[in-house]
Formats: sequence, C-alpha cells, structure tokens
Amino acid sequence: MFWSGELIARTAPVRRRANPLASPLHERAVAAYLGLAIGDALGATVEFMTPKEIRQTHGVHRDISGGGWLRLKAGQVTDDTTMSLALGEAILTRGKLEASSAAAAFDAWMRGKPVDIGNTVRRNLIGYRKTGNPEAPASEHDAGNGAAMRVLPAALACYGQPPEEAVFASRAQAHVTHNNKLSDAACETLTLMLHDLLIGRDVVAIELDHAAGLSAALPVFAYDRKRCENPSGYIVETMQAVFQAFFATENFEDCLIDVVNRGGDADTTGAIAGMLAGARYGLAAIPRRWLSTLNSEVREACEKQAELLICLAEAKNTALPAPATA
Ligand code: MN
Ligand code: MN
Repeated sequence: MFWSGELIARTAPVRRRANPLASPLHERAVAAYLGLAIGDALGATVEFMTPKEIRQTHGVHRDISGGGWLRLKAGQVTDDTTMSLALGEAILTRGKLEASSAAAAFDAWMRGKPVDIGNTVRRNLIGYRKTGNPEAPASEHDAGNGAAMRVLPAALACYGQPPEEAVFASRAQAHVTHNNKLSDAACETLTLMLHDLLIGRDVVAIELDHAAGLSAALPVFAYDRKRCENPSGYIVETMQAVFQAFFATENFEDCLIDVVNRGGDADTTGAIAGMLAGARYGLAAIPRRWLSTLNSEVREACEKQAELLICLAEAKNTALPAPATA
C-alpha cells in the first residue's frame, strides 16, 4: 500500500476525538469519505461500459462485485480513492495543505504502481519529476476529472475557513496535475458544496448556489437538459452526470445506483456522487452490504482520515484570535 496509517499516527498534529461519531459534523465527514470509496468500488465494475452493455450484463448494477476492465476484487478501490488517501496523508503529515507535499505524495503514489492512473495525472507527474515544480503548466486540454475526484481531503481540511481559503486549497492540490479553468471551477464548486452539505444546509439552496451557480458562470456545465449517459472523463460530463443523479434522488443508494448505471467513467462519477451523498445523508444511510464489502483496510483509512482532517480544521478554527475585549 502506498499510504501508511502508521505515519499518520506518528505525525498527525491532531488527535481523534474519543467518540467522533457523536458529532454530526464528524459523522458526515466520515460518511463522505466512505461514500467516495464506495462509489469508486461500485462504479469500477462498469467503468467504460455503455448503459446498454451494463443492462445486458448486470440488469441494474447494484452490488460491489469487483471485476470490470481492471479485474478488481470485490471491494477494491481505484485511483480516485487511493490518490485521495495519498493527499489526505500529506495534509495530515504537514498539518496543512501544501502544493509541494501534495505533489511529493502523488509522485510516491505513482511509484507504488497503482491499479489505474489517468493520462493527465501521469503526464504532469512525470513533468513534476523533471522540474520539481508542483504546479502543472496551464493547459486547455487538461479538463479531465482527475483533480475533482480527489477534492475531499482538501475540502475537509479547510472546512470552516473563509471561501478564499477553500478556493486556494482546492487549486493547490488540483494544479499538481490539472491546471485548467473548467477543472478549477468544478473543484471549487465541489469543495463549497461539501462544506454546505456538512453543515446540513438545505439541498435546494445548495443546488441554486453551487450547481446552478456553476452553469450560470460557465454555461458549458448546464445539466438541466439532456440526460448525460456514458459520461467521459471530461470534467463537464462528469459534473453533469453527478448533478443529475445527486439532485434527482433522495437517498444515498439511489444516487449511486443512478450515476454508475450511466456507465462511462463510472468509478469517478460514483466517487464524486458518493462523497456528496455521504455528506448529505450521513453514515446511517450507507447500505450495510456496501460497507461490509468495501476493502477493510481502505475503509479504516477513510474513516481515520476523515476524522483527523475534520479535527485539523476544527483546531485551525479555534486557533483564530479571540475578539478583543475592552
Ligand atoms: Mn479510477
Ligand atoms: Mn475513472
């Protein structure tokens, strides 16, 4: 494994709470991280299939069964989750998000021969090895979903910080491999949406502010027209499929089943929809059969990181100077 639980235990600047799940915020953060991993594991089975091929092979794909083009074991996750864990570990080791440590963590992750890796991620990590610059050159072509799929640890670490801080954090991690304005807009939207879902804000307001807000600012993201089937790795199609599934369903399970049965880049739409749905519906809404099939080492790492990242955010928030008294 490329991430190490030990390293976190040794260097984490914060401690887990005695009973983290007693706090609704911690519980939702854990559910978001598990949602990411579950969506990834569920979707990977049907990644690169069309909805028709999925229907012919699985009927409705609703169980974490492994297989797929990567020939996974049931419950195994892919780059979406493992890059997130690598990023989360880098944040916890340093006590903050830095582009340089994120780049080093992704590089170490790539050396660990991950089960899959996106082309843009590989190309720009090879660039980083050559130049040592943790920011990839801006490119119109790098509008893939590879930075958006791993926003969660950065979003948790900057929870409660002003929106400028959230934007900074989402870009610092994203630009290591994707320096592109469509990817940036998606990462920023997802980060702010996650914060609002963690607070428990009304989802209608969230759709208006963040999802509709994104398509108002960049009309290419409009998701209220045709149903997006077979979404590619292009961030626009990924976000359209995720928004359609997320806002049209009313529980965690339906949301994930809707999005992965669209096929295409299903592990990544599953991962992104899963983090949003986890933050929205909480732990109790995650089907037991999915939780128990998820690889236990991955499950433990996700739970632990989610708690530690939220503890880190809380420690920062209370470190703000107290208001001056007369
Ligand atoms: Mn993947
Ligand atoms: Mn994918």
